[in-house]
Parts: sequence; structure tokens; C-alpha cells
Amino acid sequence: MRSNLAGPRLLLRRLREVMAEPIKAQERLDKIVVLIASNVVAEVCSVYILRADGVLELYATEGLKREAVHNASLRVGEGLVGLIAAEARPLNLPNASAHPGFAYLPETGEEAYNSFLGVPILRAGRTLGVLVVQNQSHRTYLEDEVEALQTTAMVIAEMVAAGELEAISQKATGLDMSRPIASSGVGLAEGVGLGHVVLHEPRVVVTNLISEDSDKEKQRLDGAINRLRLSIDDLLASGEIAATGEHREVLEAYRMFAYDRGWIRKIEEAIKNGLTAEAAVEKVQSDTRARMLRQTDPYLRERLHDLDDLAHRLIRELMGREHGPGIDELPQDAIIIGRNMGAAELLDYGRDRIRGLVLEEGGPTSHVTIVARALGIPAVGLVDDIVSLADGGDAIIVDGDTGEVHLRPAADLENAYAEKVRFRARRQAQYRRLRNKPSVTKDGVEVALQMNAGLLVDLPHLEEAGAAGIGLFRTELQFMVASSFPRMRDQQAQYTQILDASGGKPVTFRSLDIGGDKVLPYLRSILEENPAMGWRALRLGLDRPGLLRTQIRALLHAAAGRDLKLMFPMVVEVDEFLQARGLVEKELKHLRRHGHPVPETIRLGVMVEVPSLLFQLEELLGHVDFISVGSNDLFQFFCAVDRGNTRVADRFDPLSPPFLRALKQIVDAADKAHVPVTLCGEMAGNPLAAMALIGLGYRNLSMSPASLGPVKAMLRTLDAGRLSARLLSRMEPGHRDCDIRAFLTRFAEEMDVAL
Ligand code: PEP
Ligand code: MG
Repeated sequence: MRSNLAGPRLLLRRLREVMAEPIKAQERLDKIVVLIASNVVAEVCSVYILRADGVLELYATEGLKREAVHNASLRVGEGLVGLIAAEARPLNLPNASAHPGFAYLPETGEEAYNSFLGVPILRAGRTLGVLVVQNQSHRTYLEDEVEALQTTAMVIAEMVAAGELEAISQKATGLDMSRPIASSGVGLAEGVGLGHVVLHEPRVVVTNLISEDSDKEKQRLDGAINRLRLSIDDLLASGEIAATGEHREVLEAYRMFAYDRGWIRKIEEAIKNGLTAEAAVEKVQSDTRARMLRQTDPYLRERLHDLDDLAHRLIRELMGREHGPGIDELPQDAIIIGRNMGAAELLDYGRDRIRGLVLEEGGPTSHVTIVARALGIPAVGLVDDIVSLADGGDAIIVDGDTGEVHLRPAADLENAYAEKVRFRARRQAQYRRLRNKPSVTKDGVEVALQMNAGLLVDLPHLEEAGAAGIGLFRTELQFMVASSFPRMRDQQAQYTQILDASGGKPVTFRSLDIGGDKVLPYLRSILEENPAMGWRALRLGLDRPGLLRTQIRALLHAAAGRDLKLMFPMVVEVDEFLQARGLVEKELKHLRRHGHPVPETIRLGVMVEVPSLLFQLEELLGHVDFISVGSNDLFQFFCAVDRGNTRVADRFDPLSPPFLRALKQIVDAADKAHVPVTLCGEMAGNPLAAMALIGLGYRNLSMSPASLGPVKAMLRTLDAGRLSARLLSRMEPGHRDCDIRAFLTRFAEEMDVAL
């Protein structure tokens, strides 16, 4: 059958003229439907737009009754139009009324029409409406007619996105494009942020859709694809992959798509039909996106992300834009939205204008999360599709405490959150007032509160939160945010800066704790079945002494003339500590021999985080200068509960009596041996758990800076002696009521402890 279409190029040329006319939105839509109807030689052409209440409203028609415009409507999923919106797929039917999904709308007078072609109006894979043509005769529309309709749908999508149709929307509900959306993910960094969306990699908006010269567009495409391929090949060859926050496998996927003939052929086809090169890329991507978004297979969805990224890169190549807004262009209340980003990229934005971070990926232990926490930026991860749902400048709320994200929130919700922010600020102010107050319980027991840190950006908290020192400095973070192994010089510079910035307060460095979930992108990791129990931390340090010795040397240099406190992670046997100490002594000897200044004092300690040490405490305490309990790992190994597995997260209760007994055994042994003991796992920062620790006899706790205020408020209202007596009797074997959490909560209520 011959196509009725009077040439896709001619249609596009006419469309461009209509778009350029200085007319109102309704008139423009009316002209578009007339144009399409005459080009496809259809008796009917109609535009349905999706409203915020999930209803598709007839916005313009040629052929159906005029009175039906803004009156006829269908729900998503209802009738053929609703089906197209729900499935984001064209429907081409010679006999529409025979389709099981057919629903007849009497107000439109459409009973006379048999054949039906409808396409979704898509933008970034999101359905904004449906464009339909109908004929009385039974006909099947041809491929280039479907194409023509899809291209027109793109033009209408841009009208919707530009807000042109808001003015003619009849209902108070508004358009779907501006609908409030509530999504939930996983809270990564606590706090609440209200602000406006800044897309980390903004979609370049293609406004020039229709080409004047297809051959020229094809040449532009060829050039851009070549440049794209070269840039990916270069990145893969350069070994600087981590600098861009990308991983090798992602780039390999990019390369695979960039050479995919099928993908490129589809883009070329769209150019042949009259689109500009960038519009052709966007059209193909939007179609693919709509198809793939319905996939539930996580692998395929992941590939969709890769393909999305690649299409964006190609559009940027074509339009010659750099990605990411400059810092000066950020609004004062920016909430950064991205699929994922490297820690260094977040640092690049600076702290001042950022109120929050929302990522489609990003787990609780990812590097960007660690940096967001260090910077005090509320962050939520694992939020599905947020990048395509959000537009730059949209209002947004991020709740890092609950993992909720509200895009384009209603006014009352915004007010409620603004109140939450004010409440938090008042609490923070109260905590700040405690900053210089003594850290002493009601009955006069002194408890030193230190903070955990790992980056230079953490250091200002030392003063702000009034910490007594840094109880745990995770040196691996510098390695995790770097793009290649930091050299000795870089390590030394960082440690010197830390010691300088600590203003004489003690800093306990921990030697590299890499491996497990802490992967270095530039270090080829071997696949391990149980990485948490694999080749990590001190094991790696002892097997590759060059690495550990370099770090030790950097620390000795940095602490020259000052005090150096260094501890080793994941010690399993006393002998491992002795070996590590041997390395320190060797380095020290070397420095002395060459006349380098050395630290005034050196204290070496061990993290107690593997249960085997519980059975070597006496011997261990005879060798070390101090110990620090890593309750995160200790609990994970003690109770066989993976600390990073959300499935077993509710089994991760360090307040269980057997674990508390183990903690008690450690503090008692250390006290008996007169060896200082600190606890630096997450439980130290939870006021209720910290209460238990004080009850057990811990007098030194190290926690994240944000926890210092709440823990200090708790301990200053606590009678430690009374708590201790009652807690210890409750932990006795055979005690009837062993729910320690409930006991502590009751105790706090009865005794007015500020929790
Ligand atoms: C711990 O294991 O408790 C700890 C403090 O170390 P990390 O969380 O870095 O493993
Ligand atoms: Mg640990």
C-alpha cells in the first residue's frame, strides 16, 4: 500500500513554521492537528495531554467534535489512548473497535472511524500525552507515518516541557509534568534539605528539532560519533578512569553501544526523515527508554542507564556543551540530582550552596556517601528514575533521615518540612551550647567524647562540635577518593594538614583498612566470596609491606616533633600486631639513621574487631599502648550478621546481652591492665547505645561529629553509677527480662535522661 504521507520532510518544514508563529498555545496545537491530518490524509487527528491527576484530556482535535476539546477525557490504561499512555508504545490498528481495549467516548463522535494510529508523547522516556490519527477506511498506517507522528509528538513534548500548555489547562490539577512526586530511597546522610534541583549532568535540551539539510546532519552525526568513540577509547586507555568517577565496566558498556550498528542506523533513519542530528539521537533514546523502563530485569535497566549516558554524551558532542553547571551558576539552595557521582565530583561543587543530594544509585558505604556525611549534606540514594522525573529548577525536599524525596512538593508539605528544618536547627543550637560544657555525667563520671574522621573536610567539626580529639582517623578515605594511589608525599601532606588542623588535640590514625567493601577503583581487586573476611586491612598490609611501610613513613614524617598515635585494623592474632610494630621500628630506625626528625612519642594500638582477640586479651594488652573497639566489625563477626546487608539489618542489634557481655569483658581487661580503651564503632554515636556503654564502664567514645551533641546531652543528664548497677544485674545469665533496649528506654524515661 502506498503511503498517504506527503513526505516527512515537508511535514517537518511546515511544523517548524507553525512553531515559529507568534500565536497562543491552543492555536498552535489546533494548527498542528490540522497539519498532521492533512499530511497523513487522516480524517481525525487528536492530541491528549496527561494531567497531574492521571487523566488524559483532549487538548486539540481535527475531525472529532470541537466541543469535546478540554471536556473528553480518559484515565491512563482506559481505552486505546489510555493503553498507549500506560505502555508508552504506538498502537496501529486497521479496526480499532475490534480491539479489546477499545472504549467509546460518545462526546467525541468517533464511532464512524475504523483505523487508528496512536503514539505516546514522550520526553526522556516519560509519557506526557498521546497523539492519535483515525480514518474511516480500514487501513494499516505505514512505518513512515508512524515516524511522522512520533516526530510531531516530540514537538508537542517540547511545548509541554516549556510550560506552554499550562496556560490552557482547564482543571486545577495542572499537567502531569508539574505533578508533585514522592519517591523513597535509602537515607545515606542524615538531615533535611529544601531547595531547587540542579541536575549533575543536565539534559541538554534539544530545541532545534527540524533540519534543513539531512546530508549535513548526517555528516555532523558521523563526526560526533567518531569523537565520542575516540574519547571513550582514550578514557579506557588512559588509566585515569577513576578521576571521572566511572568504572571500567561502565566504559566498556559505553564502547559497546557506541559501536552498535543498530543504534546508529535508527538515528540515521530519523535524520533521513528530517530531524536534526541531536533531535534524532533524542528521539531514538526516548523510544528506547520508554521500552526499557518497563523492564524489570535489573541488568537491562542498568544497561539503559549506560545507553542514556551515552546518548547524552553524543548530544553534548553535537551541541558542543560542557557538562555540569559551574559553581557560580548554582542556586543558593542547590539540591544535586544525579545517577551517581564520584566523591571528588561532589567535593568540586563546594559546600556553601548545596542543601542536599539525591542519587539513583549510591549505597550507604559508597564514597560519595562518605563525603556527603563528612560535609553534612543530607543525602538519599537508590531513588528510581529521579533524573528523568526532575527538571532543573524544580522545587525539591530531601529527607536523609527517612530516605524520602519530594519533587515539586505541595505548599503544606513544604511548610511541614520547613518546620522540621527549623526544629533541627534549634536542636543543633542547643547542642552547640553544650560544646564547651564538661563532658561529665550527673554523678561526676568523666567520659571523653572524640570524633571519627577521614578527610580534611571533617576537621572543622573538631572545634564546632567540641570533640576531645579524633578517636579514629580512617586513612583509607584519602585513598578511596583519589584517582590513583596517593604517593608518599601526598600522604605525608594530608597527615601534616590533619595534625596542624587538630590544634594539639590527639589524633588516632588507623592504618589503611582497604578491602572488604572499601574498594579502590585503581587497585585491581580479586573476586572474593566473602570479602569482609578476605584479604583486607592489616592482612593486605603485612602481605604487601611496601604499602604499609610507605604509609608508616609518611605518618612518622608528618608527626615529627609531635605525638603519633597509630592503630592497626583487623588484627586476629597478637603476632600480627608484633609484625606491624616491627615495621614501624624498622622505619623509625631508617629515619634516625638518615638524620630525619621523628615523632616525640609514638603510641601503637590495635582495633579490637575480630572476636579471636577476646581470647588473647591479656597477652595483647601486655604489648599495646591502647586498644579501640571497632564494634561494627566486631558485632558482624561475633553474631555472623553482615553489616552491609539490608536483609539482616534488623538482626544487627549490638544491645544484645551476649555482645554487651563481650564488650564488658574487653573494658574490664583493659582497665585491669591500665591500658586506655576507646570504642569507635557506630554504636558510640547512638545515645541509647552510648548509655549502655557508659553503664558497662567505657569512658572514651569516638563517633561521627553529628552525634557528639546528642550523646553529650544524654550523658550530662545520666546517673552512670545507678545505670551501671541496674544494667549489669540485667545482663546476668538467666535474668528473666533481657530486653536491654526496652530497659534502657524505661530507665531514661524514669530518670529524665535526655535522649
Ligand atoms: C568498626 O569496625 O567498628 C570501625 C570503627 O571501623 P570501620 O567501620 O571503618 O570498619
Ligand atoms: Mg572495622
